[in-house]
Amino acid sequence: MLQIYNTMTRRKEQFEPLEPGVVRLYSCGPTVYDVAHIGNLRTFLLSDLLVRHLRRTGVEVHNVMNITDVDDKTIEGARREGLTLREHTEKYTEYFMEDLATLRILPAWQNPRATDHIEQMHEIIAALIDKGHAYESEGSVYFDISSYPRYGRLSGSVSGADSSRDFSRLDEDEYELEDARDFALWKAAKPDEPTWDSPWGPGRPGWHIECSAMSRAYLGDTLDMHVGAVDLIFPHHENEIAQSEGATGQEFVRFWVHPEHLIVDGEKMSKSKGNFYTLRDLIERGYDPIAIRHLLMTAHYRRQLNFTLEGLDQSQQALGRLWDFVDRLEEIPADAEGEDLAEAAAEALAKFNAALGDDLNAPAAMAAVFELMHDVNAALAEGKVGHSGAAQVLAFLRDADSVLGIIEHEKGSVDADVEALMTEREQARADKNWARADEIRDELLAQGIVIEDTPTGARWRREG
Ligand code: AMP
Ligand code: ZN
Repeated sequence: MLQIYNTMTRRKEQFEPLEPGVVRLYSCGPTVYDVAHIGNLRTFLLSDLLVRHLRRTGVEVHNVMNITDVDDKTIEGARREGLTLREHTEKYTEYFMEDLATLRILPAWQNPRATDHIEQMHEIIAALIDKGHAYESEGSVYFDISSYPRYGRLSGSVSGADSSRDFSRLDEDEYELEDARDFALWKAAKPDEPTWDSPWGPGRPGWHIECSAMSRAYLGDTLDMHVGAVDLIFPHHENEIAQSEGATGQEFVRFWVHPEHLIVDGEKMSKSKGNFYTLRDLIERGYDPIAIRHLLMTAHYRRQLNFTLEGLDQSQQALGRLWDFVDRLEEIPADAEGEDLAEAAAEALAKFNAALGDDLNAPAAMAAVFELMHDVNAALAEGKVGHSGAAQVLAFLRDADSVLGIIEHEKGSVDADVEALMTEREQARADKNWARADEIRDELLAQGIVIEDTPTGARWRREG
């Protein structure tokens, strides 16, 4: 079914769910204080691939993705926009859901919001205090790292058993490995912050406790898989383990899956660096969102992917060719005879399955699709593809698309894109912008489309 790299054991392992037939998967979701950037979306797309791949193998997947709707950033965001915390976070949750749908990321089984699970957080905090893993101080509650010798197993290099370290307290949710210290589970009320009642007085939850509480509420004490980008390994996931295992005494997560970052010029794409694009930005620039989905899958998830607009152009062109190919296959008349393509399709399918089964290798899986397209295009050019051959290839493509989500398209959408470029080229020529006009000609040529300038205006035709 799936060999997947487990950050905890640091090797690829054969995945089987604990309960046969049902996979319990939790992904750390967005902090809804702003519109997500496409780096965030790369991580959520990986969860989507994982879910789609598992479902295609015939198992049920209970995938939970939380919505972080209370933390420093959302509280500050609500203040900035003059909204209540709920109004502010609902607004960005809606944007987020729209972005997921636009990218064909399937809806999660559950999208719990942190602020709806304060009681479940209290239960875990109370259990931790009870078992000597947490202590109260001035209305806040902290996890006591020294009480938990296994602390640090996931990220390495910190250990709760290290008595020489300074494990004094820390109120921030985000900090570096070298600053590992007792972290806040519950934060005492501050003026101007939303608060909830608790057995330790009014306050609000720390960030990490929410994932322990919501994963347990929907999936139980032990999860099959947990997904989040590499920056969450420490401290977030390390702290989730300490909280959950400290409270329940059970193994928290069997497989830890950590996709790498989307980067820009060697740096992580992030809000704070300002080097980010949102899906909306790119759609406004005329890109098809499915080209973004394609681009985000062109590198294996455990490798960084460098984002460039040139790369996105290439994805858009690759998709244009693929969609055009599908349109041509669908247009082959029912009585057209041609080669039997069952073997070619079966070979592509075997490659496709092997690629996904080997640590979700999406680029290799897409290559199986594009290689088949290349071969069948050659046969199409020679008029050798009949109706049954086309049906064999289309069946494979539809099956592959249940995981990839890039092949389905509106018929004729390629033509509409070509027409738009033709119009732009006419304008460029009228403006004597020959460079742009030539660029468009080359772009179309790369999609197998030839422009002919005739006395009555420019026309285009497909080659072959
Ligand atoms: P946030 O909304 O900041 O909580 O982040 C949501 C998810 O996106 C988390 O899993 C982050 O680790 C992940 N993430 C943030 N930046 C990037 C990036 N540049 N590339 C990939 N994932 C990212
Ligand atoms: Zn989390």
